[in-house]
Amino acid sequence: MSNATSDVIVVGGGPSGVAAAIAMRKAGVERVTLLEREQHLGGATRHCSHSPFGMLEFGRVYLGSAYGRRLEREAAKFGVDVRFGHSVAELREGGELLVSNHTGLETIAAKRVLVATGVRETTRAARMVTGDRPVGVVTTGTLQSYVAFHGLMPFKRPLIVGSELVTLSAVWTCLSHGARPVAVIEPRAQTLVGAPLNWFPNLMGIPFHTGARLVDIVGRGRVEAVSVERNGKVETIECDGVLFSGQFTPEASLFMNSGLAMDWGSSGPAVDQYGRCEDPAYFAAGNVLRAVETGGWAFREGRAVGRALAADLAHAGQAAAAVKVTFDDPVKLVVPNLVRSGDTLPGGLQDFQLRFTRRAVGTLALRIDGNVAWSGRGKWRPEVRVVIVRPAAASAAAKIHFSFEEESR
Ligand SMILES: Cc1cc2nc3c(=O)[nH]c(=O)nc-3n(C[C@H](O)[C@H](O)[C@H](O)COP(=O)(O)OP(=O)(O)OC[C@H]3O[C@@H](n4cnc5c(N)ncnc54)[C@H](O)[C@@H]3O)c2cc1C
Repeated sequence: MSNATSDVIVVGGGPSGVAAAIAMRKAGVERVTLLEREQHLGGATRHCSHSPFGMLEFGRVYLGSAYGRRLEREAAKFGVDVRFGHSVAELREGGELLVSNHTGLETIAAKRVLVATGVRETTRAARMVTGDRPVGVVTTGTLQSYVAFHGLMPFKRPLIVGSELVTLSAVWTCLSHGARPVAVIEPRAQTLVGAPLNWFPNLMGIPFHTGARLVDIVGRGRVEAVSVERNGKVETIECDGVLFSGQFTPEASLFMNSGLAMDWGSSGPAVDQYGRCEDPAYFAAGNVLRAVETGGWAFREGRAVGRALAADLAHAGQAAAAVKVTFDDPVKLVVPNLVRSGDTLPGGLQDFQLRFTRRAVGTLALRIDGNVAWSGRGKWRPEVRVVIVRPAAASAAAKIHFSFEEESR
């Protein structure tokens, strides 16, 4: 390892990174440096001009921007060395980072690094939507930063694509800042967010169509209309913008570009029950582990992984080989996706968290070395969090598998 300039470096100043940094300082880690590419802490929450944030962690409800300011005060209170305008470009073996800042490129090292870089929404290009290339096509995150930081609303009558929680945030941002969506469309047969939340657009008088696919965007200069396929017909809807909401994916490019092990179910880094990566100098927490959780969940997860990291740093044992957690279709992901035997640390990821790729009825079972340790029958929905307590036996297992027995579709 190169010269450590800090005990721990945290990459990313959203709720999970800040909570982890504070937890480590509280656990006695002396030098905790937090690198954030922006000029403020708060991450994705800063863009949200709505509540609720902070209820469980601070016992009161904040708007997103005020929540970010509270995180800044907490980080200062607990002596976290926060460096703004520091963008990490590369993770190197053993905890060395290549960082870009106002002075150029710099190498910084630490005994441990915790990556908490969050998620990003899927843009038009990544969704491969054809048509003209007019202005006025954005994601919710981009729209919210226009509104929150520049006082700009880029359209008056956008079409919104998606049906996740963030879609409701998109609808609310439009309505509260002078725009009225012409419709919300979702290509799946059912909305991803359940009732009663999915009533929100209709209650606001905005048509909400499921089974409706955006096939074309039309406009020279600005968006003028879209083509939407629904019930086997293609209709033209006039609008002046398109807002793509959701389809989040972990911001794991640092892991991918640095050759650190990824988990292809979650699209985030491969992590064990303490949030520790295959290279034991690295840990990860928050939404980068899997898309997508609430701010409060990210905060608690960061705090728990921060505690485990502090203990790992203190005992400096050798990390054992990891067992990979496997699963059947239609399970999409499991976090943690590795389990290590050997050391027992406080905190970390206490449960297995799963997501499904699609709706399914059947029995999900956790098999440890072939024996059923837990099973549950139910109706499983895509993108809904499933939490299963991790049995102690998992820590000594040679094989951990989630099987699924589907009843007729
Ligand atoms: C539109 C929208 C609405 C939402 N509404 C709600 C809500 O009402 N209630 C709720 O509880 N949650 C809400 N959420 C979710 C909540 O914002 C997230 O769960 C939470 O912010 C995740 O925290 P995080 O720390 O994992 O990541 P993030 O908050 O995404 O923070 C990641 C941080 O890492 C930094 N970063 C990334 N890459 C680098 C790099 N290479 N170098 C340095 N820094 C880097 C980023 O700048 C960012 O500050 C919403 C999210 C969105 C996008």
